[in-house]
Amino acid sequence: MASIFTRIVNGEIPATKIYEDAQTLAFLDVNPASRGHTLVICKQELPTLLDLPPDLLAAVGNSVQRVARAIMDALHPDGLNIVQNNGVASGQTVPHYHVHIIPRWEGDHALSHWKPGSITSEELRELAVTISSRIGGV
Ligand code: AMP
Repeated sequence: MASIFTRIVNGEIPATKIYEDAQTLAFLDVNPASRGHTLVICKQELPTLLDLPPDLLAAVGNSVQRVARAIMDALHPDGLNIVQNNGVASGQTVPHYHVHIIPRWEGDHALSHWKPGSITSEELRELAVTISSRIGGV
């Protein structure tokens, strides 16, 4: 069965997209640790870092940097966490390679206070427009 991220790539379920190219896609996390929390995925369904060929790993890395710059420009956080889980034991819940970009503000305790249901669909859409406009839209 296709992963939930493959279903997003195929347009079967919606996502608030930030950036897209031939090999990668970036969209907002529906359960964000902070405002602007974004996932960058490879479109090809491969489970973990260990499964990606070097060119695809590089493509994701380039997109992560591109999106991170747009987030800095749009939201002006004080910093960013790049988080990437591999395997259930690490906390990976979607077995389709992805990188978390988590904007951070001084004293926000975003990772320790990460809890579900903290953002509405409308807020996600507004954020996606704000960030994606910095990279020319989706
Ligand atoms: P991980 O724990 O590293 O596998 O992270 C998976 C992330 O995917 C979690 O932060 C979820 O909130 C997020 N997520 C799951 N389903 C969706 C979805 N349909 N759209 C956006 N983000 C999602």
